[in-house]
Amino acid sequence: MIQQPYPWQKEQWQLLQQRLAQGNLPHALLLHGVEGMGKQHFAQALVNSLLCENRHEQGQACGQCRGCKLLDVGNHPDFVSLSPEEVGKNITIDMVRKLATKLSISSQYSGYKVVLIAPAEQLNLASANGLLKTLEEPTPDTILILLCSHIDRLLPTIRSRCQKLLFAAPPLEPTLAWLAEQASVDSEIAPQLLRLGGDAPLRAQQLAESGVLAQRADLLKMLQALSRGEMTPVQVAEREKKIAIADILQWLSGWNMDMIRLQYSPQPAHINSPDLLEQLRPLAQQIDVQRLYKYFDKLIEASRLARTQVNQQLLLEETLVGWVRLFAKRRS
Ligand SMILES: [Zn+2]
Repeated sequence: MIQQPYPWQKEQWQLLQQRLAQGNLPHALLLHGVEGMGKQHFAQALVNSLLCENRHEQGQACGQCRGCKLLDVGNHPDFVSLSPEEVGKNITIDMVRKLATKLSISSQYSGYKVVLIAPAEQLNLASANGLLKTLEEPTPDTILILLCSHIDRLLPTIRSRCQKLLFAAPPLEPTLAWLAEQASVDSEIAPQLLRLGGDAPLRAQQLAESGVLAQRADLLKMLQALSRGEMTPVQVAEREKKIAIADILQWLSGWNMDMIRLQYSPQPAHINSPDLLEQLRPLAQQIDVQRLYKYFDKLIEASRLARTQVNQQLLLEETLVGWVRLFAKRRS
């Protein structure tokens, strides 16, 4: 049973536990933020905490009491989970009506009644409107927890009736320590992973498991071979074809920016790929900075094209041809 929030969620946890202790928890909470922040995990820890009959001092569920045991086997009468039947499907008006009926009955264990609605984006117009009444006239001791990754897709009327709690930019120290341990990477690699994961710790962990760091290092090796004329763009494109072109373009853009920075300072203050700095440095020394700026524009255009129906393999080959041209000798 999930008892603890993730280490980067302490602030949100303490805030809610304080309000719980004061008896003024909002009756509708909207947990939002990009995917990979661990909102689902946080919500589960919160549900468990609310229904535990013997909470620990920091608010964690005990895992032993009647409430915890019933939750553990998915059989707590005061907990309702509202989710689509299949991924991508809607939360229907029927589900919302059943929820309203259930909430009209008082709590079985004279504690809170807790409802988890996730992902809240999957409420369609009818079910969202159906939910409004429940949000406007809450039954006593009811806590509704809504989760969403795209808050702009929620009806404004739903948003405005919930207390919003944002999960963004996790505090670095506990996040990096967690990531280094979970992904079994060195503490110097963890910041790089977190950046690649767009600051979302779970996304970063996923990337580590998918071997993305090795793929990225391998691509840079291929680019080095291209710059020396040891391979052709077609060969490299063939070898890298299993990697999403969006990823390749993102890495290339980051390295391109790093090489521009290296033209101005041997130790730039900010750098996208500190772990690859020593490989990028000799490459940067061979390229004229104006060419790097032009290539950066090309990469932006390629990223745009990558989202269209364009032939991905050809686009990658062209991008690599552009890379080789960076190293061409100027005509004298
Ligand atoms: Zn308990």
